[in-house]
Formats: sequence, structure tokens, C-alpha cells
Amino acid sequence: MNMEENKPTLNFIEQIIEEDLASGKHKSIQTRFPPEPNGYLHIGHAKSIVLNFELAKKYNGKCNLRFDDTNPEKENEDYVNGIINDIQWLGYEWGDTLFTSDYFDQLYAWAIQLIKEGKAYVDDQSADEISATRGTPSEPAKESPYRSRSVEENLTLFEEMKEGKYPEGSKVLRAKIDLASPNMHMRDPAMYRIKRVPHHRTGSKWNIYPMYDFAHGQSDSIEQVTHSICTLEFENHRPLYEWFIKELGIYPSRQIEFARLNMSYTITSKRKLLQLVEEKHVTGWDDPRMPTLTAMRRRGFPAAAIRNFATRVGVAKRNNVIDVALLEHSVREELNKTANRVMGVLDPVKVVIENYPEGMVEMVSAINNPEDESAGTREIPFSREVYIDRSDFMEDPPSPRKFFRLGPDREVRLKYAYIVRCTGYEKDADGNVSLIKCEYFPDTKSGNDTSGKKVKGTLGWVSVNEAVDSEIRLYDRLFLDENPAAEGDEFTKLLNPDSLNIIDHAKLEPSVKDLTAGDTVQFERQGYFTVDKDSSVDRIVFNRTIGLRDNWAKAQSK
Ligand code: ATP
Ligand code: MG
Repeated sequence: MNMEENKPTLNFIEQIIEEDLASGKHKSIQTRFPPEPNGYLHIGHAKSIVLNFELAKKYNGKCNLRFDDTNPEKENEDYVNGIINDIQWLGYEWGDTLFTSDYFDQLYAWAIQLIKEGKAYVDDQSADEISATRGTPSEPAKESPYRSRSVEENLTLFEEMKEGKYPEGSKVLRAKIDLASPNMHMRDPAMYRIKRVPHHRTGSKWNIYPMYDFAHGQSDSIEQVTHSICTLEFENHRPLYEWFIKELGIYPSRQIEFARLNMSYTITSKRKLLQLVEEKHVTGWDDPRMPTLTAMRRRGFPAAAIRNFATRVGVAKRNNVIDVALLEHSVREELNKTANRVMGVLDPVKVVIENYPEGMVEMVSAINNPEDESAGTREIPFSREVYIDRSDFMEDPPSPRKFFRLGPDREVRLKYAYIVRCTGYEKDADGNVSLIKCEYFPDTKSGNDTSGKKVKGTLGWVSVNEAVDSEIRLYDRLFLDENPAAEGDEFTKLLNPDSLNIIDHAKLEPSVKDLTAGDTVQFERQGYFTVDKDSSVDRIVFNRTIGLRDNWAKAQSK
């Protein structure tokens, strides 16, 4: 997909909206985002949030937040609050927070209305019996022996279901529609089931709860949602959505389906994400490896990057899988503009500059963000002993002409400071380089280099005495497989055993002491890193937000 190509043209939902506005069907539009509070929001929800809120913004309309809270045993207040935080963090505002449970009385009244009109009945069959007699698309369902109950009997039984007289599973209220419909959802679908479970908002008032199909469209209608956007699985539910609205004679919201967001190497199902949490494959919903918004925020993904990503993937009518590299690209693109640079060495090895005066500390000026002049500069300490990254030194580079870093007799620039030449090195008992010896050239100071010397390599470094020790958590993909969703319930077999690597003693320039949890910086030449909430006064902990190498941009330029 070319990112620029689909910009000016309208997507199919915008086309519908513009037609509705042009024809005068609607004067303004209203959308909604309707999460079930049974888990935290993931990147797929972000797609839906951005779509609904941005459509409302574009057409000067309104987008509601409505909690679809009709399954009390899986839902709770913590999820409600988590979802509210996440949407606010993404940058969207709504009016009142709405709950389907606020409409339970109205929904109940509508059920009574349908019973009175002979359009709904109480069925005593079990779920198994109903499904065994449901038929196939070409063969009609068998009529329930309870289908022709009198209105009076239905009213009494339904009322008693509500009062808690019957055990769970013993009765359901069904709409009386069409047992021969080729659409299975129209074969007398359930409207209410018995659940003797307290609800986090309505307490123990109800012993029955409405099914999705008898709650969603009606809630849209109560709120006068003009365009109710949902994912493709609900396409077959649309005739039922419209049937209830027509039979009840209520505000005709319109359901429009689009393809859900699937992303490579990622699970976008709350149920499976909950399983990862419960089975402790991750530390929680906000484990930075999770595809939840709370985790991505902790990891340091900017909200703007997620919004850009959600817009870029566009709206499709066919299910497809988006490359996770596009999300990563959006994150880098945003952080490149906004993150200040600092010097950080993840795998330190000490360099002694033997001709540099002992005890001297020189402050050198460093640019905070080459992409943003207004970010200014800072001073960092330089001295006789500095750390560089182990990967920046080779005793014997295999292709010396392509290796521009340090090695015996080689010269490099220590960024913002001096050109140095390697004069020798020492190894420890295990054969690892333990100390690198250099000389520096005083006339090569950055900004004031009068030497005329040219070097090909520039290295990051951190002065030993002033270095801040820190813990860095390096994350890799949570799944090894490109399509873990295809694996069904066995998906945990595909977990990457090396998705977290912890570096204990990274060395960072002293300015990082001013950062607080949630701040993101670029460690020069290493990647973007965000201060984690696990940091304490004596120990700063960083999450690697993302490395610098952009596979998406690379693939695009091929
Ligand atoms: P899950 O299967 O993860 O529980 P869900 O659809 O049951 O997802 P809801 O809380 O009911 O979760 O979803 C709220 C809204 O977000 C719905 O309108 C739904 O269509 C939308 N949504 C959920 N997942 C995705 C996705 N992967 N891509 C786009 N929209 C999604
Ligand atoms: Mg759902």
C-alpha cells in the first residue's frame, strides 16, 4: 500500500456519510465507540477509536463513548477506568460516559412491547436443544414447543425470569421472526438470557441480561447514533439489527461494517490477551510487549504515532493483515521529531585516553535534537576515561574497509569531542577486551577542529566518573510466528522465549537523571528508550521503545 495514494479519495464510510449529508437524511452525524469493559484496549480498538472520533471531527459531529456492559461476569470497574484513560491518552474527548446498563429499563420495556405484539416468546428449551434444532442454511429450524405460548403466559414468565425465579439456562426470551430464514441470526434469536450474576453498575437488580443483538442497536438508537460502525463479523447480524429497530419503531441508526485490524506477530483478541496475563506469560496488561494501549504507552509509543498508524491503514471491506513494521515506522517517525538525543552505552567497555590530563573534566556541547532546533543544546562531561560500546571496537575487523569504528591504530571521532587513535588494548582471563587505550588530538575538538584530519567513524561515549548506571529492558516480538492468531487456542506455543532481555549496567550521560517515567529519549545510534515506572531514585529503568532501523521504510524504497 502506498501511504500517499489513498489520501485525497474518500473511504467507503466517508462516501456514505457525505451522501447522507448531501441528501439531507442527516444534518449532522453521530458515531460511537462501544467497548465491552472485559479487558484493556488493544491496537485493534485504537483503529476503531480513531475511525469513529476522526469521522465525527471531520464532519463536525459527535462521537459517544458507550460501555457495552451486558456480560456482568466478565466485566468490572477497573476495565472501565482503564479504557477511559487509554482513550483520553490517545487524545480524544467525548461528552457523558454512557453505559448500556443505563438502558436496561428501556430495553426491558421494549421486550415487553414485543411480547405484547406477539413478536417474542419465552422458550424453556436449553441452549443445546435450541442449537440442535436450529437447522442448516438450507434446512429450516424446528419450531420450539413453546413458540405459541399466549401473550399473558409470556409476560408472566418473562417477569419471573427477571425476578430470579428460574435457574440460569432454564429459559430464554426469543424474538419470533423466521425459522426458515437463510440467515441463521433471524431464526428466532435470543433476546434475553438468565444470569444470576451481580452487575458492577446495577448490582443485583437484574437476573436477566439482554443479548448483544437486543442491546447494541437499541442503544445506538437511544443515543441517535447515525452511523454505527462495527467489524465484519457483524455483517450477518445487520438484518436483525434492522428488524428490531423497525418492529420497535425507534430511531433508525445504520450499521456499517469494516474489516477489523489484524497485525502481523500480534494477537488482537481480549480473551487471548487475558490468557497471557492470567498464565503469567507477561507481567500484566501493561507489560511493554503487549499490544494493548496501556502497554504501548508504557513502552513509549507516542499517541500521535498510533493515531497516524490507524489512519494510514485505512478502512477496508476485506480482512487482511497489516505489517507490524508500519506501526513501528509510525513510532520512529514521531520520535525522530520529538525525542531528545542522549549518549548511552548499552554494553560498555572502558577507554583510557592516555595523553588526556588526569582529573580534568571538560564540558562539551551536544545537540538535543537535530530535527528540532528549538530543543537547543546541553553540556556533557568529557574526561580521560570514557565508555564506548563493545560493538564499536574490533581487534581485527574482517573487512577493515567497511568497518569505520575503533580498532588497533584506527582513528575515530568521539562525538562532540575529539578524534582519538587506538594505541593498544587489554583482555581479561576469558579473552574479552577489558580496556582500550587511546591518544587524543587536542586540535580536533568538535566545533573548533583546526587539524584538517578526516575520519569515517563517529562513536557515542559516556564519561566514566559521571556515568549513570541503569537497567535497560530490551524487547523483541512477543510471538515468533507471523500469524499467531491462526493457531487457535494453542497460540501460546508460539511465544518468543527471548522477548525480554535485561541489561543491568548500561552507562548513560548524567542528564538522564532529570527524566521521569514516561519520558522518551534517543540513545544516539541505539534507538529510542522510555523511562519505566519501575524506576527509583537510585536506579533508573528504561524500556527500549524501538530500535533505529526502519524495516518498513526500507521495504518501501525497494
Ligand atoms: P475482542 O475480540 O478483542 O474482545 P471485541 O470486538 O469483542 O474485541 P469490544 O470491546 O466489543 O471488543 O470492541 C469495541 C469496538 O472495537 C467494537 O466496535 C469493535 O468492532 C472494535 N474492535 C475490536 N477489535 C477490533 C479490531 N481488531 N479492529 C478494529 N476494530 C475493532
Ligand atoms: Mg465484543
